Amino acid sequence: MGDRPAWVYLLECADGTLYTGWCYDLMARLAQHNAGRGAKYTRSRCPVTLRWSEPCIDRQAAMRREAAIKKLKRPEKLKLMTSEELASMPGVNWKNLREEHPEPTEGIAGHVREILIGLGEDPEREGLQRTPERVARMYAELTEGYHVDPVKLINDAIFEVDYDEMVIVQDIDYASLCEHHTLPFLGRAHVAYIPGGKVIGLSKIPRIVEMYAKRFQIQERMTNQIADFLMEHLDPRGVGVVVEGQHMCSMIRGVRQPNSLMVTSAMRGLFKKDPRTRAEFMALLDRRR
Ligand SMILES: [Zn+2]
Repeated sequence: MGDRPAWVYLLECADGTLYTGWCYDLMARLAQHNAGRGAKYTRSRCPVTLRWSEPCIDRQAAMRREAAIKKLKRPEKLKLMTSEELASMPGVNWKNLREEHPEPTEGIAGHVREILIGLGEDPEREGLQRTPERVARMYAELTEGYHVDPVKLINDAIFEVDYDEMVIVQDIDYASLCEHHTLPFLGRAHVAYIPGGKVIGLSKIPRIVEMYAKRFQIQERMTNQIADFLMEHLDPRGVGVVVEGQHMCSMIRGVRQPNSLMVTSAMRGLFKKDPRTRAEFMALLDRRR
């Protein structure tokens, strides 16, 4: 003990292989890998993408965990990236980790435990025993948009075409976290653009929405970010984004407006300049209501 919290992580390399490592500062380490200064293995396989990470109480715990994961076969590693339940993974045992370190106050799980205590709860009672770890993993999942590499996300999905009609993707479900209260807000996003020589694979637009939703957000900024991302990478003649959201923080607390729907929009290029384009987009959205 006495050491700092550390991370175990899995990277996906440019050739599709997986690399397991540990570090103290996850983002700095990721940057090192991508600068070719990380590990011999990743040096020739850049760029790498962070696929999974897990906080450990200290260096020793991280190294043990790394060794256990290195023994896993690829399908097991892939499963780990999406798994909820750590204890069900071979070679992984949170319980041992906790027994060795009876007071895991470092790291997110430790802080969640402190919150429970601060609120007058008993984190040792049956229903709460694994809650701190669950909440820590839940936050990791709900904020995984921070770790998506946007360039890789749209890689190979942009095509040159001679098409200049409006492209619309409607009813994209999203869930985000309000950065003021850390409570969810969720709803649907509608995205339209008019190509300027390039189009993007339609399935990528929901992924772009998700990348910006899965982090601490405010709806207005998320709406702008989606529009700006498409403007930057597609260089279209215009982009229109409309986002509808129900905010738990106003539904279940404070002023309590259980039915309020917040609508935000971001218009760029033709959608901003040309009222007819904007009207066409809005009419298409209205029609389904
Ligand atoms: Zn809020």
